[in-house]
Amino acid sequence: MNRIEKACQDRGMRMTGQRRVIARVLSQSEDHPDVEELYRRASAVDDKISIATVYRTVKLFEDAGILERHDFRDGRSRYEEATDDHHDHLIDLQSGEVIEFRHEEIERLQEIVARELGYRLVDHRLELYGIKLKTD
Ligand SMILES: [Zn+2]
Repeated sequence: MNRIEKACQDRGMRMTGQRRVIARVLSQSEDHPDVEELYRRASAVDDKISIATVYRTVKLFEDAGILERHDFRDGRSRYEEATDDHHDHLIDLQSGEVIEFRHEEIERLQEIVARELGYRLVDHRLELYGIKLKTD
């Protein structure tokens, strides 16, 4: 059983065959696919899966805190498995590539900012948008 299926089971979710396929596809994804892409991958496994089912299932998983939804400003919601190890994203504006990173100084500064404003930081999101430097 993959981690997403396990998370669904832990939450007492009813798992149909199609939900399992979608869970497996999500678990195997190392990128940040949108619903269309998930639908392509899921229908390669089970061609009876409809895009509506993928939409509903992804929403269900997101509401249960199993998936994280991102909006990288291209008008499509992207998904990735919610995990404990935090990372931020840099989006290449030309290729659309999404690069994951973690920078300890940024993490630390965010804590400081929150504290100075009288808050304990519990979560954050950071997206950087960039154009690749020419290296010559
Ligand atoms: Zn990510």
